[in-house]
Amino acid sequence: MQYFEELKSMTQIFSYGEFILWNNEAITIENHSLFWKSWVERGIYFIQDILNSSGNFLTLDEFQTKFQIKINFLQYFQLITAIPSDLKKKAKSHAAPTRDSLETTTISTFPGKTNLDLSVMGCKNYYKLFNESCVIEPTGVKKWKDKFPNDFVDWSNKFLHIYRSSKDNKLRQFSFKLLHRTIVTKKELNKFRLVNDAAHITFCSNPDSIEHTILDCNVVTSFYSEAFSWFNQTCDTNIYLSNKQITLDDIT
Ligand SMILES: [Zn+2]
Repeated sequence: MQYFEELKSMTQIFSYGEFILWNNEAITIENHSLFWKSWVERGIYFIQDILNSSGNFLTLDEFQTKFQIKINFLQYFQLITAIPSDLKKKAKSHAAPTRDSLETTTISTFPGKTNLDLSVMGCKNYYKLFNESCVIEPTGVKKWKDKFPNDFVDWSNKFLHIYRSSKDNKLRQFSFKLLHRTIVTKKELNKFRLVNDAAHITFCSNPDSIEHTILDCNVVTSFYSEAFSWFNQTCDTNIYLSNKQITLDDIT
C-alpha cells in the first residue's frame, strides 16, 4: 500500500483525487474518510461542487436547491468542517475536475509507456510498474559510472544486456552480481577479516579485486584472448571483445 501511495504521488495519476470529497484521506470525520452514497448519486463529487461562485461554501438552502436533496444540516456542516481550509482555498482557485476523470480507469504513467487500465491491473502489474519506475541507482553502478561515465548514461540498459548476452542462468547471475559489484573477491574477504594477507590472487602478483581480476589483470587478459582464438578457430569466426566489453556484457 505504501508503494501504491508512492506510485500515486509519483505519477500523479489521480490528479482529480485531491478535491474529491469521498474516500479522501484529507477529508475525515473522526479519522474516517467519508462516502455518502446518496450524495454521490446526486452528483456531488468535489469540493468545488459545494462552493458558490465567490468560492464560499454553499449555504444549506443553496445546497439543497442545487442538488435537489433534503439533508440534515448537521451532516452538511460536518462535511464542511471536515474540509481543511488550505484545501478549500486551493479548490477555490482550481476548476473542478471533469466528470470523465471519474469514469476513466485508463491512466498514462510514464512517457513512452503504454497506458494502463486500472480495472484489470493486478498486484503483479503494480509491482512491475513500481520496479520500472525505480530511479534509485545501485551503489555498484555508481562506482562503475565513475570509471566508465560514457557507458553508464543509461545504466538500467546494462542490466538488459545480461539477458541478451547469455541464456545460462549461472552466467547471468554472475553478470548481475558483477554489475552490482557484489562479487566477493579477496579484497572483500580481507575487509570482512575472513583472510589475513593483503589478498593476492594465486596467478598474479596484484591484489585481487573486482576491477583488477576481471578487468585489468594481464593474466586474465591473455586468458580472454586465448579463449577467443580457440572460439574463433573452432567456429570459424572473428570475434574479439575488449576486457571492458566482456565485463559489462557490452556486445552491441
Ligand atoms: Zn593481475
